[in-house]
Amino acid sequence: MLNFVYHPDYSYPFPDNHRFAMSKFHRLHRLLAREGILDQVWINEPAKASIEDISLIHQRDYVQALADGTLTPAQLKRLRLPWSPQLANRSFIAANGTYLTCQLALEHGLALHMAGGTHHSQPEGGAGFCVFNDMAYATVRMLQEQRAERVLILDCDVHQGDGTANILRGVSGAFTCSLHCQQNYPHPKVLSDLDVPIQAGCEDSEYLNLLARTLDILMTRFAPDLVIYDAGADVHEQDQLGHLKLTREGMEARDQLVFERCHQEGVAVAVVIGGGYATDREALVDLHAIPFRTAVKNAGNLGLRLRKTVA
Ligand SMILES: [Zn+2]
Repeated sequence: MLNFVYHPDYSYPFPDNHRFAMSKFHRLHRLLAREGILDQVWINEPAKASIEDISLIHQRDYVQALADGTLTPAQLKRLRLPWSPQLANRSFIAANGTYLTCQLALEHGLALHMAGGTHHSQPEGGAGFCVFNDMAYATVRMLQEQRAERVLILDCDVHQGDGTANILRGVSGAFTCSLHCQQNYPHPKVLSDLDVPIQAGCEDSEYLNLLARTLDILMTRFAPDLVIYDAGADVHEQDQLGHLKLTREGMEARDQLVFERCHQEGVAVAVVIGGGYATDREALVDLHAIPFRTAVKNAGNLGLRLRKTVA
C-alpha cells in the first residue's frame, strides 16, 4: 500500500513575499488532488508531538520557548521565520509526520511525507527556515523504540544537512549522508558520516552518477533497514538559492534511482520534501510533486498496491 502523510495545518496565512513558501504544503496537496494522485494512495494525518518528544533531540528550553513564543531575537534571526502560534503548531505536527512516514515505510516499503526535511535545525535551536529537525527526531525515535536498527539519512537537498549531522553524531544505528552543492549555505559545513560535495553547475548525468556510486557505498558499508530520503527540490536549475542545474527529468530519475535501488535491497524508504525556493509558488510545488508522481507511476515495480487506479 502506498501511503502519503499530510496535515492541513502545515500551511497557514503567511506573508507571500517571504523567501520561505509557507503555502507550499497546501498548494502541493491541492495539486496532487487535482492530478488524481491522492485518489490512488492512502492519506495519513499525524498527531502533534509533545514538548517531551521533541526534547529527545533539542534542548528543552529551546523547545519550550518555541512553544511559548519566547525565542530570543538572536534565535529568531538564525531561524529566519517569524514566530506565531501557527508556526509552533505546525512544527510539532511535522516532526511527528516524518516519524509516522518512517513507520509506514517500514510496514509497506515506501511512504512519502508532504512536508519535512528541516535539516538545518541544531540541538540548541532552529536555523535557515528549519524549526525542529524532523529527520533526526524520527531517526532517534525509530531506533529507541527498536522499530529500526540502522537508519540512513540520505539528504539530497542542495544544502548540506548540518543540523542532522550534529544531532546524530555518535548515535548508534544512525548514519548521515549529505549530497549537496559545496558553494551553498551553510558556511562552514559540518562533518556528516559521508559528505558528497558537488560543484555549482552540476547537471543531470554527473549528479545521477554520483548518487548511484554513493548508494553503492551506503548499501555495502552501512546496509540500512530504513532510509529517510530528503528529496529537496532546490537542486532544480531554476531554484533561487541552489546552484545546481538539474532538470525536472533529472529530478524524476533521481527519485526513481533511490526508490528502485532501495527496493532491490529490501530497504524501506521514507521521503520528505526538503527545500525549494521560487517566487512562482505553483511552479515550485510542481517540482515538489515529482517524488509523489514518481512513486505512484512506479508503484507496480516497487511492489506497492494503489487504492485505485485512475486512467
Ligand atoms: Zn535546501
